Amino acid sequence: MIVEMRSGATQKEINGVSQRAKSLGMDVQMNLGTDKTVVAILGSNTGKLSTDVFAILPGVVSVTRIMKPYKLSSREFHNQSSVVTIKGVEIGENKPIAVMAGPCAVESEAQLKKAADIVKNAGARILRGGAFKPRTSPFSFQGLKEKGLELLDRVRKEYSMPVISEVTDTQEVDIMAKYCDILQVGSRNMQNFVLLSAVGKTKCPVVLKRGFSCTVTEWLTAADYILAEGNNQVILCERGIRTFEDTTRFSLDISSIPVLKRASHLPVIVDPSHAAGHFALVPALAKAAVAAGADGLLIEVHPNPKEALVDGLQSLTPSDFARLMKELKPIATAVGRSV
Ligand code: PEP
Ligand code: MN
Repeated sequence: MIVEMRSGATQKEINGVSQRAKSLGMDVQMNLGTDKTVVAILGSNTGKLSTDVFAILPGVVSVTRIMKPYKLSSREFHNQSSVVTIKGVEIGENKPIAVMAGPCAVESEAQLKKAADIVKNAGARILRGGAFKPRTSPFSFQGLKEKGLELLDRVRKEYSMPVISEVTDTQEVDIMAKYCDILQVGSRNMQNFVLLSAVGKTKCPVVLKRGFSCTVTEWLTAADYILAEGNNQVILCERGIRTFEDTTRFSLDISSIPVLKRASHLPVIVDPSHAAGHFALVPALAKAAVAAGADGLLIEVHPNPKEALVDGLQSLTPSDFARLMKELKPIATAVGRSV
């Protein structure tokens, strides 16, 4: 951590910073410039310290972090890229691109079975479907809840496909872990730290979506909550962030893929559907994600998007999804992967 003192800071103010650092078990290195003094705070644990500890002291102008606030998700801590395996499906670097696809929400047994059939035949290896739906309006369809989980359980057995579904509350964690193969923590819950710790206590793989107003640093720090509980099966999912642009639902941050690959050992997947908000944009974003190094995709597909109870506009039809799966192949090959 670097503490910049004001020009003309008194020796008493400089000593104040030094004493505070030492009282916290840190070492200090003084850098005396012509105008001002800069104090470097040294120690392996500075990532745990709040910058406020020094910012509040008299004579301090700014405090800059050098150590990242996240640790367990970082490549410095774990250099080798992690691979998460779900019932034989491996997700991670140099593995085939894992495609998770299905409806936004489980609506009925017939709808889920049709969706499973379509996405499996087209080459998806994991089925998605929300049973608990966090909706912006309390008057919108909230999902089939426990009934939806039972359907996911039935269909995953019938089609031998692992399923991913969103967990919205700590009270649902146990039942979700029983009926699903991957727990999805949604964008709106990325910083629900109690929920993160609760999914961290399970043995279930977790897909942690990016909060749509959160930085990559905040996202990786959130991942540390899950990892700190002993669950190391964490997959990050970029799903778009809120910007001034309003021609898409969210702006898909393609740069976060190579940024995460450098900063973290965790697998990275991309959800082009919630970013795009429109079916016509989804294929291009999915291809861009694979080209940029994503390890997998999470795509909304509905047997009949016109009839969908949730997110029909951004859901691919069966034929559009089958076409996209074919179009992804040469892109995956170009980056040394397969689909
Ligand atoms: C979803 O995947 O159905 C969903 C609600 O996504 P997000 O949390 O990214 O909005
Ligand atoms: Mn959706």
